Amino acid sequence: MRSQNIVETIRERLDIVEVIREYIPSLKKAGRNFKALCPFHNEKTPSFTVNPDTQRFYCFGCQENGDVFTFIEKIDGLTFMESVKKLADKAGVQWEGFSMKSMTENDRIRIELKKAMELATVFYSRFLTSSNALKAAQYLKDRNVSQKSVEKFSLGFSPISENMFVNEAVKRGFSKELLIKAGLAYVKENGQITDYFRGRVMFPIKNTLGEVIAFGARTLDDFGPKYLNSPETPLFSKRKTLYGIFEALRDIRKEKKNSFA
Ligand SMILES: [Zn+2]
Repeated sequence: MRSQNIVETIRERLDIVEVIREYIPSLKKAGRNFKALCPFHNEKTPSFTVNPDTQRFYCFGCQENGDVFTFIEKIDGLTFMESVKKLADKAGVQWEGFSMKSMTENDRIRIELKKAMELATVFYSRFLTSSNALKAAQYLKDRNVSQKSVEKFSLGFSPISENMFVNEAVKRGFSKELLIKAGLAYVKENGQITDYFRGRVMFPIKNTLGEVIAFGARTLDDFGPKYLNSPETPLFSKRKTLYGIFEALRDIRKEKKNSFA
């Protein structure tokens, strides 16, 4: 059973305005609706609205919209099922019978994709400390990025070799199809599967739960574009990519200031 009841009960018990206000304290009444700066795109004038009557949100800027579950899915980077669990706890609704079986195919894929991103993050972080990454370590040092920041933001370096990451991931049981779907690999003209990121300083982009959903990457050679972002994936929409990287870089800059203070 899809547990329609639990979803309906949660919807009845929770007010979307209150739930969203916990994430966006500046949410203000504006006529019948509530308004704030959109959390899903970068803007200076509020175009994010919440309608208490329909219990839905809508952004006139980026067209993100949905109900309270969609909001939690998007802002926390959760699957539908995870958002139901989170909101069930909040609403004091018994969480039972909502088993793995009630996960959709989409839920399952997203969970697998997140695992692949996690592996990539650890892999690139470790590689940054190797003797093959001296150039990257020097690059970060030259930009006054402290070791603390490197760790906090899980910065890394991707090997220049063609498929070092793919081989490692396949060895650990990830399918090539999944790695391509995660934007971590692609198929070359000759049909060979190749690492998507090569010889680049890796900046993981995380959701609000701290899960890595994409990478921004800067090359240290004249090899491909200077900056390369993850392609569009089920975890991450390109429209938000720049915003995510902007946030990450701003945080890193902030961190840098603090370390000088
Ligand atoms: Zn928006």
